[in-house]
Amino acid sequence: MATPGKIDIKSLQLSDIETRVQEFHEPLYRARQLAEWLYQKRARSFDEMTDLPKQFRVRLAQEFSFGQIEIVRVLGSRDTTRKFLFRLSDASLIESVLIPASPALYGSRSDRRTICASTQVGCAYGCKFCASGLEGFSRNLQPNEIVDQIIAVARETGEKIDNIVFMGMGEPLANFENVMRAIRIINAPWGIGTGARHITLSTSGLAPQIRKLADEPLQVRLAISLHGSTDAVRNQIMPINRRYNLETLVAACDYYVKQKKQRLTFEYILIATVNDTPDQARELGRIARRLGAKVNLIPYNTVHGLPWSRPSPEQQRQFLSILRASGIPATLRREKGHDIDAACGQLRLQTKRELETATL
Ligand code: SAH
Ligand code: SF4
Repeated sequence: MATPGKIDIKSLQLSDIETRVQEFHEPLYRARQLAEWLYQKRARSFDEMTDLPKQFRVRLAQEFSFGQIEIVRVLGSRDTTRKFLFRLSDASLIESVLIPASPALYGSRSDRRTICASTQVGCAYGCKFCASGLEGFSRNLQPNEIVDQIIAVARETGEKIDNIVFMGMGEPLANFENVMRAIRIINAPWGIGTGARHITLSTSGLAPQIRKLADEPLQVRLAISLHGSTDAVRNQIMPINRRYNLETLVAACDYYVKQKKQRLTFEYILIATVNDTPDQARELGRIARRLGAKVNLIPYNTVHGLPWSRPSPEQQRQFLSILRASGIPATLRREKGHDIDAACGQLRLQTKRELETATL
């Protein structure tokens, strides 16, 4: 259980652990031993760390909490997209999705796995098409709750996870410090050990935080959820655009690209009659060219209770070909999780609704 007032052991950097180990008059190497138990052996309690002296373990348990995230529901199966619903220590629900890069069709297994992790409980940004925003914002996730999604999925599935994208529930750049702390643990050789270039943050367009991220030394990747290439369209579906309009967002992206010398990705959900016109495609092409960005087109995943739908396959291909004709590297994602409601926030919403109905 997480204990109020205590910091969780999986929110600490190695240097913090080393400081505490020395305060406990233990040899410095105990810090790495502890980190190995946490991140390689994926221990669930201090008691499991049998090669640490008993008295040291007692001391650790007195000083730190050791939060658990409990898997309450899994949808999907091996070689397809799998979705995990977690209950946190305070009973909040969050979700993660595990996606095979190329789902193998005839029995052989895909060898690359991407986890899509959450960064907040709910989301305050209220994009009109998104399930995560529907019930508003509850709270930020702590670093250990972010790291634990990866540990729990790896432990549950036995899979090696090579890619991490923060495209689950929540706006990662609105929980900047905790997300950065989690990423340092995920990236560190003493932690989970995932290369920075295999970690992607996705933002709906928090311009000042994009600039702040540009000044961070870590070479993580950045995806921008654009979903509209004019202010008129973005204003209609993404309230954030009224705070940071396209010009402000593009200027922040420009700064990011110059600082990081890295290619950005624009995520663009295709929503029928809202943002799928040839004009939007041409305008998107202009913005992407100016920034040297690539574009990921994602057919909209219907959300129960929302009026939006995806364009026809023909319309999707036409949008793609306009982009390609203007020289933009663009892909049209086949929505792997359509059958299990893979878009962010949906499993949580569905479960909450079922629980509410069950208790009526
Ligand atoms: N808040 C961040 C990260 C989480 S959302 C952001 O907005 O970028 C991750 C991605 O899922 C975003 O690109 C978001 O727009 C997209 N998304 C949300 N609802 C969706 C839906 N119903 N179908 C397809 N993609 C969706
Ligand atoms: Fe929040 Fe992203 Fe969903 Fe918008 S798309 S409501 S920013 S999670």
